[in-house]
Amino acid sequence: MPQKVFENFASGGGMVLKMQEIKNQICDICAKMWQLGWVAANDGNVSVRLADGTFLVTPAGIGKSFITPDKIVQINSASETIGETDYRPSSEIKMHLRCYQDRDDIGAVIHAHPPTATGYAVANKALDGYTMIEAVLTIGSVPVTPYGTPSTHEVPEAIAPYLQEHDVLLLQNHGALSVGADLLTAFYRMETLELWAKISLNAHLLGGAVEISRENIERLCSMRGQYGMSGRHPGYKKYPNGGS
Ligand SMILES: [Zn+2]
Repeated sequence: MPQKVFENFASGGGMVLKMQEIKNQICDICAKMWQLGWVAANDGNVSVRLADGTFLVTPAGIGKSFITPDKIVQINSASETIGETDYRPSSEIKMHLRCYQDRDDIGAVIHAHPPTATGYAVANKALDGYTMIEAVLTIGSVPVTPYGTPSTHEVPEAIAPYLQEHDVLLLQNHGALSVGADLLTAFYRMETLELWAKISLNAHLLGGAVEISRENIERLCSMRGQYGMSGRHPGYKKYPNGGS
């Protein structure tokens, strides 16, 4: 699917989608998340920032494979719902709103529990091996952010220090978070994270991954500009104790 279709708040002059189309896209992404096994029961949440500064958010308490466009909730930056709805916004909305508040370049946020990446999160092991070209180029190291009780202010406070350098984070004992200028970019980053986590675990079973040379890592990082890649990248950064 062409990325243009997913442009929204942060697209800067491109095609602006109607709200109904964005709701359809959120449902499509939710269905993919469930098909990929990234969520069980009511796990996970998705949001998109609209051009008027409001947000479309997945509803609380509904499995991602059952979400339909009419269940998507529109809220303002104070988490107040806009318009008539029988649904409440996701309980993790504070985490999403903190992403939008702290970075103007973020137009979409995804939280899920992809099982291999979440394995690293519950083992408190950062994915900071610069071992696979695609992951080095697109997301760099992924730290484990400190433990936070879901739905409280602990979670946004825990992620904020890392958000300035990273588009993908592991949440300790919980799951993963990805952000992007648009929904498809955030989804692709979560896909890259989970595939890289699987590959890293396989390499570990085979005796350990071999890191790319620093010279080649620097070359890969410098190529991000040539490819016109959006978002943040930490450069070469290690997190030997998970997130600290
Ligand atoms: Zn979660």
